[in-house]
Amino acid sequence: MYLTRNFKLSEFQCPCCGKSNISLELVEKLQQLRDRYGEPIFITSGVRCAEYNRRVGGYWDSPHLKGLAVDIVARINPVTMAYLADELGCFRIGIYDHHTHLDIVKPYPSKYWLVKGGNEPVYSGNETDLNKFLRGKI
Ligand SMILES: [Zn+2]
Repeated sequence: MYLTRNFKLSEFQCPCCGKSNISLELVEKLQQLRDRYGEPIFITSGVRCAEYNRRVGGYWDSPHLKGLAVDIVARINPVTMAYLADELGCFRIGIYDHHTHLDIVKPYPSKYWLVKGGNEPVYSGNETDLNKFLRGKI
């Protein structure tokens, strides 16, 4: 079942139990991102039940539990995808080694965070400072 032009409900379901309470608001924003990018975006994690979230080392209060977050991969790197997503102005954005996390949790205490290995952010804050951080100036 397609939720939007490019995204099917099955792509967002918890892989262990099929839990499927994905936010349609999130999927619609993701479709906007897909339209702007113009190439396939793959969901590596959408909805998670509590058990699956524990198994993958997710934060105890992860927005994945409420269907408010997705992890995505595409042919562009996670940092480039993060900036593209930011142009839509509607996500909190986590940059990981191999994927980009997008969620629509409000308010936005930290617009961006950056994780290198493991799960603990090495950076958390706004875009301007992220740019400096990435260039080694913080
Ligand atoms: Zn599950």
